[in-house]
Amino acid sequence: MPLKKGKLAGWGNYPVAESYILTPRSENDSRDALKDGPVIARGLGRSYGDQAVNENRNVVLCTHLNYFIAWDDTTGVLECQAGASLDEIISVFAPKGWFPMICPGTKFVTLGGAIANDIHGKAHHTDGSFVNCVLSFTILLADGSIVTASRTENADLFWANFGGLGLLGIILTVKMQLRKIETTYFRQKSVRIKNLDHMLAALEEYDHTYNYSVAWIDALAKGSKLGSGVLTLGNGAALHELPEKLRQEPLKLHRSGKLSVPFFLPGFALNGLTVRILNKVIAFVQNSPKAFVHYDKFFFPLDAINNWNKGYGKRGFVQYQFVIPEENGKRHLTEILNMIADSGCMPFLNVFKKMGDGQGILSFPFRGYTLAIDFPVTPQLLAFTPKLDAKVLEYGGRLYLGKDALLDEKTFKAMYPRYTEWLAVKRKYDPQNKFSSDISRRLGLES
Ligand SMILES: Cc1cc2nc3c(=O)[nH]c(=O)nc-3n(C[C@H](O)[C@H](O)[C@H](O)COP(=O)(O)OP(=O)(O)OC[C@H]3O[C@@H](n4cnc5c(N)ncnc54)[C@H](O)[C@@H]3O)c2cc1C
Repeated sequence: MPLKKGKLAGWGNYPVAESYILTPRSENDSRDALKDGPVIARGLGRSYGDQAVNENRNVVLCTHLNYFIAWDDTTGVLECQAGASLDEIISVFAPKGWFPMICPGTKFVTLGGAIANDIHGKAHHTDGSFVNCVLSFTILLADGSIVTASRTENADLFWANFGGLGLLGIILTVKMQLRKIETTYFRQKSVRIKNLDHMLAALEEYDHTYNYSVAWIDALAKGSKLGSGVLTLGNGAALHELPEKLRQEPLKLHRSGKLSVPFFLPGFALNGLTVRILNKVIAFVQNSPKAFVHYDKFFFPLDAINNWNKGYGKRGFVQYQFVIPEENGKRHLTEILNMIADSGCMPFLNVFKKMGDGQGILSFPFRGYTLAIDFPVTPQLLAFTPKLDAKVLEYGGRLYLGKDALLDEKTFKAMYPRYTEWLAVKRKYDPQNKFSSDISRRLGLES
């Protein structure tokens, strides 16, 4: 299989590293890919940092391994190759009345990527993370064998892969449960939030009546407005609830995005003023939604603009996402939001939500509050994030590895104390570190 040399990065375009890319089109090709030294699998490159990057080493691009294998229309169980994306699954199965159970903020993720980061969506407090829709998968291991992993077969391998960053093998096929739907629309409500007290109370109040909830927070607001924003809530719409016009085509599909950011915007396009203006625009748009909204707008609003990541310029950006426990949540969030507002870094697109209990060994979620913030990469940011990491750790929290690009090994290990359990599984299945990546070397996730 030909090796193609090229620059690779995650969605944040930071860091960028030269890697050798292999593109298998069969299981045999994937096995061949293991012959040429350490490799890491890559899906659609939507993790933000160095998860699917392997400097001067090999990256196995799995997006051509995307065939559907079996479908049961009575149970909603789908078996397909792990390079299939949620976009491809939705395109085929939404018109039949079935939808992925767990959706992140973009539909351009592969099943392999969804497992490797054990992704979560707006309904984590009710549905949990991606592991909850996976029945089993097959995986190509370092010794070239292909095994099945499920809750009852190679269970250690199964659990270690959720949040395992592709470091245990190449996931080849996945058997997953889809959810039955009557329509592809959501009943939506939005609540203008005055401050953090109001935000936490509203989440508490509505989480029992709405499956989906997510808030946008103005991370530059301070004092009595700290924590202000807009909370968006929703439930899947039943057919009888839809207005007459939407009932004509209740299982309508998305169209591909028409807008695009064609090149990297210059760095000076982002400054305090543009952030403030954007915050006002977001607050206005979020606060005036329609009562019924299509899934593409509800789950994946950012997909409307192709390559929006280029808007942050060539230096790239980091999405900093942490979760902290509910206990003392208000006091800790106040401290963290003040640190961010005072940092001089420019927080964009700040997403806040509540999480339910977590599961996989290295899975990110646990019961608490999570905040995700996009920061353009600047020298100031690189000096600031270690202080923020220390604060998150002090408050019993941790960072989402699927978005991380900067965390150091010591802080990571303190944030994820079950890493030793994970390393025992790594040693069992990949003692020679056949699977490695820039993040595995940065965080010490090696046998
Ligand atoms: C706009 C946007 C919104 C997002 N919203 C959310 C959100 O709400 N919740 C959330 O949890 N995440 C979210 N994400 C992150 C995204 O869901 C994850 O990073 C996901 O893992 C990306 O999948 P991918 O196919 O692009 O994988 P990549 O980014 O290409 O790879 C991610 C990891 O998966 C591994 N991997 C990929 N394929 C395989 C395979 N076949 N076998 C083994 N390992 C494999 C890679 O080695 C790597 O470690 C968002 C990302 C974007 C850009």
